[in-house]
Amino acid sequence: MRLPEAFAERVRAQLGEGWPDYEAALGKPPWAGLRLNPKKGSVSEIRGGLPLELEPVTWTADGFYYSGGSRPAKLPFYQAGLYYLQEPSAMAPAAMLGVAKGDRVLDLCAAPGGKSTQIAAQLDGTGLLVANEVRLERGKALVWNLEHWGAANTIVINEPPGTLAGRFPRFFDKILADAPCSGEGMFRKDPEAVRKWTAYNGEACRGLQDEILRCGARMLKPGGRMMYSTCTFNPLENEMAVSDFLRGRPDFSLVPLSLGYGWRSGALPGTLILMPHLARGEGQFLALLEKSGAPEGALDEPEADWTAAGDWSGAAGVSGALDKAGQNNGWRPFLDFMEDNILDGEALRTYGGPLVLEGRYLYQRSAGPMPSLSGLRALRPGFFLGSLKNGRFEPSQALAMELKPRYMRRALQLDRNDPWLDRFLKGETLLTEGPGGWTLVCLEEWPLGFGKQADGYMKNRYHPGWRIGS
Ligand code: SAM
Repeated sequence: MRLPEAFAERVRAQLGEGWPDYEAALGKPPWAGLRLNPKKGSVSEIRGGLPLELEPVTWTADGFYYSGGSRPAKLPFYQAGLYYLQEPSAMAPAAMLGVAKGDRVLDLCAAPGGKSTQIAAQLDGTGLLVANEVRLERGKALVWNLEHWGAANTIVINEPPGTLAGRFPRFFDKILADAPCSGEGMFRKDPEAVRKWTAYNGEACRGLQDEILRCGARMLKPGGRMMYSTCTFNPLENEMAVSDFLRGRPDFSLVPLSLGYGWRSGALPGTLILMPHLARGEGQFLALLEKSGAPEGALDEPEADWTAAGDWSGAAGVSGALDKAGQNNGWRPFLDFMEDNILDGEALRTYGGPLVLEGRYLYQRSAGPMPSLSGLRALRPGFFLGSLKNGRFEPSQALAMELKPRYMRRALQLDRNDPWLDRFLKGETLLTEGPGGWTLVCLEEWPLGFGKQADGYMKNRYHPGWRIGS
């Protein structure tokens, strides 16, 4: 690989005797990884059922290496959200952030969503994940990945960090600031990164990184923790960005990250650098920052803003949900849909939040206080349940991914070798007999999407944008 001269000169000096090993490692294939989705079953169950050779990534329980020859993205298990393809070193920042169940977590630079799906798995349906991405096109990919994953207690926002900081002061327990950077750690995985390096050099990125850290700091609760990560080796974007930040914010300190797995300390003690010749992964930098003060001392807790919402969460079941609030707020067709199709509303009650109708789109918010989202570009202001059209409710693809066949009056569970599987994923009509109505089409026990059974055939309602070949 032909490295930019200025890069080689600097990193040669940074690595000293390690340089020849680093250079040799760049000639080897990159590590390929995936993370299993614990929502779809235990790690051992899913791993045992997949036609893939998997070897554990030591720094995260759900992460695995797969051999470069296999093509996990081509398998229907990928469409069913059983795993997310993620480079193994990129699994480290969220793994080391220390997310606890019930936390309110912000992923400030979230697209395409590798670390957001990892945080959603750690939250396990509790607390709240706010996934933000400043670039709209990338934000759409983030939504796709989070909905595939079944990350229901999530909102997705498309705003610059400064706008968010004004809305969520001292709100989050944990923040991940996985900043845009010069990408030096990705040279082996992505040859484009070498070409882009000239345009996205460290100096160009540093201003963004300072702003991201500054805004993250404002949104963290006292006692909260923020992980700052990049996939570069440039000290200007790593150690210097962190030490300059700490100089300006004496209320923050570094939480030393422990070494292991071939990771080495950054030039600033307590930070970590993952290098492709030492760890079994690509390049990454990590620094964990803590804001002083007791978590209970968090000030300015925003008032809950449920003005548009009725509390559906306390309902004892689907029929219990047919309350006055529902009728008054215009989501009666949704309640009819639930009555007609869902045996058990457990899946949705888990998140405990009220329903919110925005235009014709119906969402369920997570439980707990939240600032108003009005005026923010929210790509998903809550869990997207579906749309109301001409007095009828059309369930969303996200809702399908959240359900289980046992919750449904009608489910079609296709075996992994069933030829209809491929046809369903391509959007074709299926020739099936059965009671008419909305049907959850599954790969074995894992939902893929909806079909609508009619006389002798099932209309395909798999989201057009999710179809194979779309
Ligand atoms: N965390 C993501 C994941 O695990 O999939 C990868 C994030 S990537 C390293 C950095 C992201 O920051 C990109 O999606 C990029 O669009 C976004 N970004 C670019 N400029 C930004 C800015 N000024 N503020 C915040 N984010 C920005």
